[in-house]
Amino acid sequence: MPSQAPETTGTHWHCETVDKALELLGASTNGLDAEEAARRLAEHGPNEFASGRRVSKLLLLLSQFTSLLVVILIISAVISLFLGQYIEAIAIIVIVLLAGFLGFLQEYQAGKAIESLKRLAAPTARVIRGGSEKEIPSREVVPGDIILLKTGDMVPADGRLTEAINLKVGEAVLTGESMPEEKHTEPIADQDLLPGDRKNMVHMGTTTTSGRGRAAITATGMGTEFGKIAGLLNKTERERTPLQKNLDTFGKWLGIFAIALSAATAVLGIFRGHSIIEMFIWGVALAVAVIPEALPAVVNISLAIGVRRLVKHHALIRKLAAVETLGATTVICSDKTGTLTQDEMTVRMLYMDGRTFEVTGAGYSPKGEIRENGALLGADELEYLKPALVAGALCNDTILQEQGGEWKVVGDPTEGAFLVLAKKAGIDPAALHNEQPRTQEIPFTSERKRMTTVHTTPEGIIAYSKGAYEVLLDGCSRAVQHGKAVPLTDEIRREIARHAGAMAGQALRVLALAYRSINAAEDPLAAAETGMVFIGIAGMSDPPRPEAREALARCTLAGIRPVMITGDNMDTAVAVAKELGLLKRGCVLTGAEISAMPDDDFDKSIGDIEVYARISPEHKLRIVNALMKKGEIVVMTGDGVNDAPALKRAHIGVAMGITGTDVSKEASDMILIDDNFASIVAAVEEGRSIFDNIRKYLVFLLSGNLATVVAMIVALIAELPLPLVAVQILFINLIMDGLVAIALGVDPPQPGIMERRPRNVKEGIIDAPALYYIAAVGIWIALVTLGPFLWALHASLGPDKAMSIFFATLIFARIFNGFNCRSREHSLFTVGFFGNRWLWLASLVSAAFTLLLLYLTIFHAPFKTVPLGLNEWMVVLPAAFSTFVAVELWKLGRRLLAPVLRH
Ligand code: ATP
Repeated sequence: MPSQAPETTGTHWHCETVDKALELLGASTNGLDAEEAARRLAEHGPNEFASGRRVSKLLLLLSQFTSLLVVILIISAVISLFLGQYIEAIAIIVIVLLAGFLGFLQEYQAGKAIESLKRLAAPTARVIRGGSEKEIPSREVVPGDIILLKTGDMVPADGRLTEAINLKVGEAVLTGESMPEEKHTEPIADQDLLPGDRKNMVHMGTTTTSGRGRAAITATGMGTEFGKIAGLLNKTERERTPLQKNLDTFGKWLGIFAIALSAATAVLGIFRGHSIIEMFIWGVALAVAVIPEALPAVVNISLAIGVRRLVKHHALIRKLAAVETLGATTVICSDKTGTLTQDEMTVRMLYMDGRTFEVTGAGYSPKGEIRENGALLGADELEYLKPALVAGALCNDTILQEQGGEWKVVGDPTEGAFLVLAKKAGIDPAALHNEQPRTQEIPFTSERKRMTTVHTTPEGIIAYSKGAYEVLLDGCSRAVQHGKAVPLTDEIRREIARHAGAMAGQALRVLALAYRSINAAEDPLAAAETGMVFIGIAGMSDPPRPEAREALARCTLAGIRPVMITGDNMDTAVAVAKELGLLKRGCVLTGAEISAMPDDDFDKSIGDIEVYARISPEHKLRIVNALMKKGEIVVMTGDGVNDAPALKRAHIGVAMGITGTDVSKEASDMILIDDNFASIVAAVEEGRSIFDNIRKYLVFLLSGNLATVVAMIVALIAELPLPLVAVQILFINLIMDGLVAIALGVDPPQPGIMERRPRNVKEGIIDAPALYYIAAVGIWIALVTLGPFLWALHASLGPDKAMSIFFATLIFARIFNGFNCRSREHSLFTVGFFGNRWLWLASLVSAAFTLLLLYLTIFHAPFKTVPLGLNEWMVVLPAAFSTFVAVELWKLGRRLLAPVLRH
């Protein structure tokens, strides 16, 4: 292979033959070797779009100083400077800078965490490198790579097809044409063709809707057709979740309210004889105190941390909004195979011609035997079973591999089970494929529920089919009996159905096998699935995931309704659902029943159905729609191409990380790394916790801010000296917003978080109980801080001392309130006294800074503080601590009264 790809710009790839294209690309069907691929990656750059406007660090830092309040603060610092109040001015500037820097750090970290997770969720491509198949990140695909495409794959870059087997590609993203295009590998003479007409090429961003193929990559990244358009619509806008948007609006109104209130208070102060300048700065500081500036940062951090925690639970978030919606989930619609079960298929039973055979062995290991009534089969009987074994092994796209003594299936487990079965009977599937090569195929889809392949055999052309037994029976006119094909009578049909029912009743997945000889005059594909000969049925086990049972029980406890949706038949679905403890009322509906039901009836019954069987993807969309109409918050899982509409429609579309197609992943909000149902439930718990934390943060901050404002206004109205000066307000704001509140934003999940009903999405984040808390605790803290202040004034300790007493009481009361805010219902001792180490750290640091301000002389002048004596602390600390005690008593009262109030 030449080591260098020749200059190929301007080549009309679709006009070239496959060989010529490969030659021009310096490539071969064996793919590039690792070294050459690395060299080309360095030369052509990664296969991604050059990102346009990226928010630079400097811009992000500067954006922290653009809010109206900060601008007013800076202006007021400048005014103070002109008036010779240097210390005040410097203090304001330092605090503004510190707050800005803190905000920057938080936003930057949060942004980085989300970026790196996005990279984790990035698509992959299957390529041939150094002669063998490999999965690599799509960004590492280079010109000359040979890529492999199968149904559901997203094409990673532009390429010239070298192989196309019934390959159809959906190119709507590129051409707007919704019908998939059939592809081929022949050169096309016409040079000037639009991408949609280049039938022997595939393009980045399009998706394989059926069949399979291989292509030699001709262009990557910005050089692709999609790259050319993407350059125009390079989207780098940061995604805002509904909660973020709501809070933006909330913040804006609060800002307007704060400014109006501060202005009014400042004017009142001026009337009371305070200087205009003093009241201007004071008013600004008060406004700053009311507004939770760190709100966007905290929401960002909570979401980012949540996203990271979710990865630990094997859930990868693709859309940030999903994090907050997760917590409100009321229904989880889950696929059965692979999500609730292990997707490790093993054929356990075979039924053929009135005889039932048992198969022993575990997993994919070909160690095992085929027995009839307990007796091992001899060579003759194995020969008798051969049609079933051959059909299962040939109508098959999987590979069975042994790695370090462990047997694995590459591909669909259902098909893998047939390879294992053949091997148990001493048949080598690879040799069989060589002996009877496949010439054509009709691939499996969830709608068709069957797959057919056509082979050239020593006995002529034969089609093999496998799939759902009802579907296969429909296309059969004969059945194998005593080694011969006899007419398929109603009696034989009944017998087959009876055995299939018995297998399904044991939670086995039932697949039927059939064949048909094709004569030379027939079109193999058109003829293959008609007039077939029924061979027999196989029952395969797929054990439930051990953790699924518990996860389902947790759902019920959490007020979430789990629903199982499966392509399997009703008996299998019911048996598995029973094993999992999911079928409580026995309400099951099949795809055929849904199709026959008018919308109204279906909508009415949707609330009771626990299991859906023989479902096609289009039914999933109907299920989601009906559930959403009822006001449910729906999680829906899916893996196939045709699941995409349902995934998009559901509140949270969940794609499977292992078995999911690229198309389903693209359409999803969340990807399950391990395909496991239990991970969805863990994600819901995390979602609830994140929402709780943002609420805790808000409640803490608003109650504390209200306390400050109420105390200040009371002091003004009562003609007392002002209890705080501007820099003190700013300092309190900095430690509360910047430290304590953020620590609440990362609080661990509450005990019992999965024992309460899902949150009502219609209720805002500040619901009625939150509002009561803010009002009651805000006023409480205002009163208990004004108390020591008045005491100091009456005891003639002087205004400076009284101010420091007020300052210390307010800070400590708010710190204690931080601990109160960890739970609405539970006592701190139930939630875990040391449960949030960050809150302890933030509180200790805040307390330490407060002490520094009180006791270090250099801070005395700028912060107008004086040291407090032991006597004074004896007043300050109990007053502050009373907040903690009062809230604990209040919660206790509510807990005690709750059962009474419920009746
Ligand atoms: P679930 O929806 O629980 O995840 P599933 O996705 O495995 O189940 P499908 O893959 O749609 O369901 O399968 C539906 C039916 O199609 C199966 O019950 C089986 O009879 C048949 N089937 C499944 N896989 C294949 C295959 N590879 N070849 C032929 N038929 C198949």
